[in-house]
Amino acid sequence: MTGTSLTLYNSLTRQLEPFVPLDPANVRVYSCGPTVYNYAHIGNLRAYVFTDTLSRVLRWKGYPLTHIINITDVGHLTSDADAGDDKMEAAARAQATSIWDIAAHYTAAFKQNLQDLNIRSPDRFPLATDHILEMIAFAQQIAANCYELDSGLYFDTSSVPDYGRLAGTREDEREGRIDPVAGKRHPQDFAIWRKSEAHEQRQMEWDSPWGRGAPGWHLECSVMSQKYLGANFDIHTGGIDHREIHHPNEIAQNQAHCGCADTGATFWLHNNFLVERSGKMSKSGGSFTTLQTLIDLGVHPLAYRLMCLQAHYRSELEFSLENLAAAFTRLKRLVIVVQALRARAEGDAESPDASPWLDQLDAAVADDLNTPRALPLLDEMLADKKLKPAQRLGLLTHFDEVLGLDLATLPRAELRLRPADATLTEAEIDARLAERREARAAKDFSRSDAIRDDLVAAGVEVMDGDPLGWDWKLAL
Ligand code: AMP
Ligand code: ZN
Repeated sequence: MTGTSLTLYNSLTRQLEPFVPLDPANVRVYSCGPTVYNYAHIGNLRAYVFTDTLSRVLRWKGYPLTHIINITDVGHLTSDADAGDDKMEAAARAQATSIWDIAAHYTAAFKQNLQDLNIRSPDRFPLATDHILEMIAFAQQIAANCYELDSGLYFDTSSVPDYGRLAGTREDEREGRIDPVAGKRHPQDFAIWRKSEAHEQRQMEWDSPWGRGAPGWHLECSVMSQKYLGANFDIHTGGIDHREIHHPNEIAQNQAHCGCADTGATFWLHNNFLVERSGKMSKSGGSFTTLQTLIDLGVHPLAYRLMCLQAHYRSELEFSLENLAAAFTRLKRLVIVVQALRARAEGDAESPDASPWLDQLDAAVADDLNTPRALPLLDEMLADKKLKPAQRLGLLTHFDEVLGLDLATLPRAELRLRPADATLTEAEIDARLAERREARAAKDFSRSDAIRDDLVAAGVEVMDGDPLGWDWKLAL
């Protein structure tokens, strides 16, 4: 599909720019993946709903795509500066298990999250620990830009042009932004290799020309993006926090490696944060909301996906159970509308190949992936009486391809998830509701109220006259 040309906001230039692929036959995208020392929180998952939207839009617009999401299973410290504990080692200690088991467990959980959110698998999920030798080789190749201290090998950020351009800060503003490691030439210099301390017992460590230890966190993304996508590829993504430290450091490594000013990717895209009023979501901060938390409440994971799509990826999005419940209701409404269309579509003619609706969808998503603009189009298209139900269902497949809400196939019954702490089964709820209807028919209102109160106590809200025909919902 040609259509409207795609415009994306490039963090490097802080501007919307037309997307021109380096090779139209293979658009290459690298997304910084999760650190697998714990479950992903729903904020992390917003980052992958965003990359999935990006890859869906690119594919829908006809670009063949290679997409990589790495798995950080080593080297990420509890602070973005090269200080603090290694998150993986700390988790293994706390859970008294092997660091490899920790990584395998949380990687599997992450992949399950992606599946639940209907996020398509990338072409590869390379593991940092599978690339240690390549990281050492890369570090040797940029040795001229590095210096050695007792604690490890450090990158001299003054050795590359325009360090920190991506972060958009001036050098004087950067001073003091990063905790200094003793002996570093500049506060923003960062570890390429961290030596294990003499007394330190690390589960993950490797020999290197700079002693036994582990790579600095930023190295893996330069190495794996180059290995799988080439030194110059199209799009690099991550959350907005990565715009400040991780990505400027990747760029510095890439520039040292090529001995040129190329940053690696043409476009650097960053999703804004999902925030909770209680403060920034933090995986290392202890308690946080996971997708499973929402599923355990009885919320379908696609309601969370829809909630993300309702905001532009560059806007901060506030998470609350109220917002989530509203998105869940919107999802239910869509599923019911589609179900009704399906019932009426039998025997209808095939869908149209072209439609002004597709042009409008294209215009919305080509405008820097403007999903909040695409969603009302979906509502309007489904209600367009000028089109036969089958035609609307035909158009729906395009919206599904782009938005990933699976509306064409999602059965209404699947929207009812059993909460983890549910005390009543669905059959019991239905039986209680039937009793309540009988009581009401017999004008026995004290009995019908008592049944309602029992249900409320069990976390079930009774919905009389619900326009969606839903008898009850879970009280979130
Ligand atoms: P991590 O596992 O901490 O490396 O993070 C995985 C991805 O989630 C990275 O791209 C982060 O930038 C992103 N991220 C972290 N916190 C949030 C948040 N609250 N909202 C959106 N994205 C986030
Ligand atoms: Zn990265």
